[in-house]
Amino acid sequence: MAADRIKNLLRKRWLWVAVPVALVSLAMIFIAQYRSLRTLEQTLPAYRRETMSQYLKEVTYNVVEIYSKNSERVLAVPPSAITFVKPGIVANNADGSACQQAVAPVAAFFKQQEFAGAKRYFVAVVTERNSGSGGEILFYDPAKQTMVFDPKAPEMRAINVAMAPYFVYIRAGAMIMLSSNAVDRDPNTRLLVKPIVNQEKNVIAIAGLVLDPKWFEEQAVPPVIHDNLKKFFPTEFNDAVVVVQYGDFMKEENPKEGWRVFSTDPTVKGFMPELKWRFDFGFRHYALGIAMRSENAAQWARRYFIFNLSLTIIGALSLLATLYLGLRTATREMKLLQMKTDFVANVSHELRTPLASIRVFGEMLKLGRVKDQEKMREYGGYIETQGRRLTQVINNILDFSRIESGKKEYNFGPADARELIADAIEATKGRANQSGHAIRFSQPDKAVPAISVDFESMSLALTNLLDNAMKYSGEAKEIEIRLEQKDGFVRMAVTDHGIGIPREEQKKIFEKFYRVSTGLVHDVKGSGLGLSIVQHIVEAHGGRITVESEAGQGSTFTIHLPVQEERGTTNEEKGSFVVPPSGGFPANAGTTN
Ligand code: ADP
Repeated sequence: MAADRIKNLLRKRWLWVAVPVALVSLAMIFIAQYRSLRTLEQTLPAYRRETMSQYLKEVTYNVVEIYSKNSERVLAVPPSAITFVKPGIVANNADGSACQQAVAPVAAFFKQQEFAGAKRYFVAVVTERNSGSGGEILFYDPAKQTMVFDPKAPEMRAINVAMAPYFVYIRAGAMIMLSSNAVDRDPNTRLLVKPIVNQEKNVIAIAGLVLDPKWFEEQAVPPVIHDNLKKFFPTEFNDAVVVVQYGDFMKEENPKEGWRVFSTDPTVKGFMPELKWRFDFGFRHYALGIAMRSENAAQWARRYFIFNLSLTIIGALSLLATLYLGLRTATREMKLLQMKTDFVANVSHELRTPLASIRVFGEMLKLGRVKDQEKMREYGGYIETQGRRLTQVINNILDFSRIESGKKEYNFGPADARELIADAIEATKGRANQSGHAIRFSQPDKAVPAISVDFESMSLALTNLLDNAMKYSGEAKEIEIRLEQKDGFVRMAVTDHGIGIPREEQKKIFEKFYRVSTGLVHDVKGSGLGLSIVQHIVEAHGGRITVESEAGQGSTFTIHLPVQEERGTTNEEKGSFVVPPSGGFPANAGTTN
């Protein structure tokens, strides 16, 4: 059977085009996806590294910007704030008061500046009393709001070293860059300085500030780190850990206590940055490091690859499934179409055969050729049987169309199963006599409970079973009907000893239009509707139909109907009532659709 179906499928030419086209396109999509994912897998780590590197550069650049912008502003001391005796030279005396006097207005300028990143402001000038590479440093004193000498200040040494070249420029009247500069060779004193120049662009003094590292670590850097994380890693910023290190950052490990001054996640211990970048402009001993918390870039790319490949495979599989389902539906539709075509041919045949006999026997009677009373009765009998047969075929078709359109109605009432069987036997008796079939009904020993049925429909169902038993019995002419009650069901079984039904066909024979297409069945005409109608009728009664059969041995079709529940009437047995032998029914018949 499976081989037959495959052969049938292969015969359909459109499949030869559609299936390979679908499979090839699927394969192409799959290969393209696989290749792009592979490339992605290879480029992603590089891409991610590049992103991390860009991130580090951006953060450090932003921090430099904070400092350079502020220093440009707070160190922009106007040259007019200092009184010079000659360009670049300030008056001085032994106690330094003349020098202090000359730079006094600078204090007013510093007073207006607000930059939390600065610890102290100062100004450096060359005076008449200085020689060689020397000069004077005056700090801004916020308490007194004046410029003061502070030779013991811890920053003095670093400032002096930083200013030495500038003093040389001042003496030489050099023209130098106007912008501010960072001097951070001494990790304890980090400075930002800006030349003060006259109109001729000659440097005449220096304004400077001492940086506050605490402000850098706690106020300047953290917000920049966080802001940029969201910009550079919009989806995985939680995965990134960024640290600020202090010390010998180029070494892989720096066990010195406190070397990590900031971390986006202080709970992560023993964590080594994948990439580092040095801060500059005043904070060159600090570095910024970044790493991904869970995995490195290669692992991440692998996971990304596997995830996307799985998606692709699932997509391809569901496409295949859709293709398969589509094909199946199409073949089913085509099969149904074929079965409908066969049905028309089969039904016409079923109608034509009895009609032909009726016409022939009718004509013979009309022409008065038959004189013998016995023969006349016989021919009359034929006509009646064929008439009944026609009625049954037409009833089946009408029933089927009602079932299909959902208009079939059932009028339920209590009935005696024996009467149902007797009615069905009566309906098929004529045919049985003519074809030489013997229908034997084994009566049960005990009374059988009444069942609630639509008498006409159930009788039609039984008649269909009897009719099939005769049609498919071949040479074995014995047919039995058995009636019994078991497990709350009344069972009516019709057994023949005919051609039987192969196991794999036994489910399908209940489908509409379906006919077994192998073996002897070819010779027997039928519509393929009978069993589908029987099944519908039986199920509408809350029952079911089963078949036991073996090819060549015969078949037994059994209708199982539930015993009617007691509804408080005068009945003998609990849970069921018994039809009295007279055949009178209890008065609790209900009508249902
Ligand atoms: P049909 O009009 O073809 O008899 P049915 O729906 O009554 O339609 O039956 C469907 C198919 O089931 C039949 O074509 C036949 O192949 C198979 N079949 C039904 N009853 C019997 C039986 N008693 N023995 C063998 N085959 C049967």
